[in-house]
Amino acid sequence: MIFDAIVVGLGAMGSATLYQLAKQTPNVLGLDQFAPPHTLGSTHGDTRITRQAIGEGAHFVPLALRSYDIWRELEQRTGEELLTITGGLFIGQEHSPVQMHNKPGWLSTTIRAAEQFGIAHRLLDHAALRREFPQFRYRPDDIGYYEEEAGFLKPERCISVQLEQARQYGASVRTNERMVAFDATKTGITVRTEQGVYQTRKLILTTGSWITESLRHTPYQELLTVYRQVLYWFAIEGNYTQYTPDKLPVFILSERDLYGFPAVGGPAGGLKIATETYAHATSPQVVDRTVSEAETRRMYEEHIAPNFVGVGPACVKSVVCLYTMTPNGDFIIDQHPDHPDVLLASACSGHGFKHSAAVGQILAELTLQNRTGFSIEPFQLGHSR
Ligand SMILES: Cc1cc2nc3c(=O)[nH]c(=O)nc-3n(C[C@H](O)[C@H](O)[C@H](O)COP(=O)(O)OP(=O)(O)OC[C@H]3O[C@@H](n4cnc5c(N)ncnc54)[C@H](O)[C@@H]3O)c2cc1C
Repeated sequence: MIFDAIVVGLGAMGSATLYQLAKQTPNVLGLDQFAPPHTLGSTHGDTRITRQAIGEGAHFVPLALRSYDIWRELEQRTGEELLTITGGLFIGQEHSPVQMHNKPGWLSTTIRAAEQFGIAHRLLDHAALRREFPQFRYRPDDIGYYEEEAGFLKPERCISVQLEQARQYGASVRTNERMVAFDATKTGITVRTEQGVYQTRKLILTTGSWITESLRHTPYQELLTVYRQVLYWFAIEGNYTQYTPDKLPVFILSERDLYGFPAVGGPAGGLKIATETYAHATSPQVVDRTVSEAETRRMYEEHIAPNFVGVGPACVKSVVCLYTMTPNGDFIIDQHPDHPDVLLASACSGHGFKHSAAVGQILAELTLQNRTGFSIEPFQLGHSR
């Protein structure tokens, strides 16, 4: 049997791709070394921020908007809530050169993208910030951008729902089966796993932080860098009702590399807040997946206490997660440099989840139609340096 396509890696990008492929042909196979959703890659921790005016670049806006439509389509098909609108509050200094996700001028790009695409938003001055959102400690030159339709996605549920839908359309899904090699020739592609051998016309590699292995021995082997990140849930010591989604939207403090979510786990569930660290490169094979008490204390002292009101030092929960970064913060969606029938996607750089549904559509279109209506030139391998 020869598959039309095999997707290796069924995390955020792979599950979306398999779903989009299966809508067009049941003759597709998805493989993962673990059983997604799992906690060893980049797609766990309960929630992911989504927003529409994308500060990482206006070229991402069509992906974000299309993804909103796909999440809503999936919700209608399944009755599951995947996307929760809370509004989004983004705080910073408008013309700051500080980088976020390897992109300078994040807040001003956000505001420009909102104006360009007509995305509902309002700007808040310092006084309005203090009045409307007393949960934060502000700097004198802070301004706020509030986006009406921002909110959060449930990443684990998004993966499960898309894999389940793909199965219902007839796709085969094999988990706990690792691809060890592939061999691409002019007549087709052979995929070898620890359990078997499969033939396919097209291969899609959506292997997250493991994708560096597929770029070995190519000019792009140094392109991607994997960084360990930690998500924390700190105890709310203030008035809990100030932190629920009706009072607190998802938030990003762009100058301070901090982001977080309203309290959705009840009074004892804590407030999920994270920073971003790029000090040491790592890999999924060797990364330290434990979070030490010293690290948690440092997070509280350096990031939580100076910036939040009513959030205490007790840590309710923490998890380690992986960023796979390109140098310029864009994604990679391209053919493998040595094999035109092998597509690869590294859509992370710390901000990929919100776009994952559309990335799945793009990969399915490239696989089955050899073209896509989305502009993906910025995501070619050569552009990401
Ligand atoms: C802490 C953190 C916070 C984030 N916050 C946000 C946010 O708020 N908003 C947002 O939009 N984005 C956010 N992101 C980014 C987003 O989560 C990622 O862009 C996205 O999850 C990447 O998905 P992926 O499919 O590339 O990787 P993964 O979901 O890790 O999937 C890769 C899969 O490939 C499998 N695999 C690898 N090698 C093989 C092999 N040889 N054989 C078989 N299977 C294999 C793995 O087991 C894994 O299941 C965040 C990321 C992190 C880490």
